[in-house]
Amino acid sequence: SKTNAALLQRRAAAVPRGVGQTHPVVAERAENATVWDVEGREYIDFAGGIAVLNTGHLHPQVVAAVQEQLTKLSHTCFQVLAYEPYIELCEEINKRLPGDFAKKTLLVTSGSEAVENAVKIARAVTGRAGVIAFTGAYHGRTLMTLGLTGKVVPYSAGMGLMPGGIFRALAPCALHGVSEDDSIASIERIFKNDAQPRDIAAIIIEPVQGEGGFYVNSPAFMKRLRALCDEHGILLIADEVQTGAGRTGTFFATEQLGVVPDLTTFAKSVGGGFPISGVGGKAELMDAIVPGGLGGTYAGSPIACAAALAVLKVFEQEKLLERSNDLGEKLKAGLREIQSRHPVIGDVRGLGSMVAIELFEGGDLHKPAAELVGKVVVRAREKGLILLSCGTYYNVIRFLMPLTIPDAQLQKGLAILAECFDELA
Ligand code: PMP
Repeated sequence: SKTNAALLQRRAAAVPRGVGQTHPVVAERAENATVWDVEGREYIDFAGGIAVLNTGHLHPQVVAAVQEQLTKLSHTCFQVLAYEPYIELCEEINKRLPGDFAKKTLLVTSGSEAVENAVKIARAVTGRAGVIAFTGAYHGRTLMTLGLTGKVVPYSAGMGLMPGGIFRALAPCALHGVSEDDSIASIERIFKNDAQPRDIAAIIIEPVQGEGGFYVNSPAFMKRLRALCDEHGILLIADEVQTGAGRTGTFFATEQLGVVPDLTTFAKSVGGGFPISGVGGKAELMDAIVPGGLGGTYAGSPIACAAALAVLKVFEQEKLLERSNDLGEKLKAGLREIQSRHPVIGDVRGLGSMVAIELFEGGDLHKPAAELVGKVVVRAREKGLILLSCGTYYNVIRFLMPLTIPDAQLQKGLAILAECFDELA
């Protein structure tokens, strides 16, 4: 029978090492918040395939919708022959995007591709090429999005300089000594030192910084960004690839941050495990690019559109936005309980169920405890819990379990996590 070790040996021989892997486990099947490996070991999934499984692994309604779509067609290329699921999904996303104006949405396949297209649209709208992104940001692995991503090792290490026209502002992060004033001042500094506002097409921001460490931006800060954009005719792009699809308790995080972005990117959990992403926003902006200038062979695959439409229905039927907030509260309560016994946990934070803990040696905010995070992740896996870390300093554990996880399983996972801290911290 198959073993993790044997398959991972084949992986090492056949797949480049650049494709990293958090856990030395080969998955065989999964259901809601549970995964089984090829050796039959069972795991509680607190990672959700990196924020993709808000509706859980193989939600029965998502599976049924995909199966039904497979009896009709799997591909035409939307730019050759249209199909209704694409149109309907765009209508549904338009209804959910913040802003009191007509909206349009473009579908593509990955989060990176969504961000690429948002930048293309911003460039076409403004006739400008510059983009401002933030320290610690993550926007993808294609060349433009890699340039926007604010962390060199490992993402762009060894690949030479990234595309030009990208300027880096400081992400506000009170915990690490960067105030909102500092952040706004860093943008003013870019305008003074690097490029005039008239050459900047867009400012792109994750409403809650994801890979960088789950830092929540305040409504006050988002409003200052919006005002700065309005003052200079710059578009505000909200990258909701990780925050979207209800993770933060509203369908899009900007809904509760008091700003209306010009363009919003989404991906991950919108497709419930099937590859779909997109950009949506003000109709007149979305129409800036000439016919033929947007698209892609597989962009908005009918299979993935059917899955996404089912995901949206599941959100309503199972009241998953409420559940997201409820789960977030339970999660934070459980984590604070562990924190009360383990001061190494310097911070418990989050928006909705987009929750993380940040570890510091001796509770000293100047000493990120990356090594301990690594050890906790390994020990938790040995005990049957799949965790995911993140953070510029590798010292954050983030929680991205399905919103559909049963409470008992959530508590079981938290109990395992508590055990890990009791043993290691
Ligand atoms: N933007 C954000 C905010 C993300 O979190 C990610 C993925 N972690 C991406 C873009 C890129 O998405 P993908 O990996 O699907 O290209």
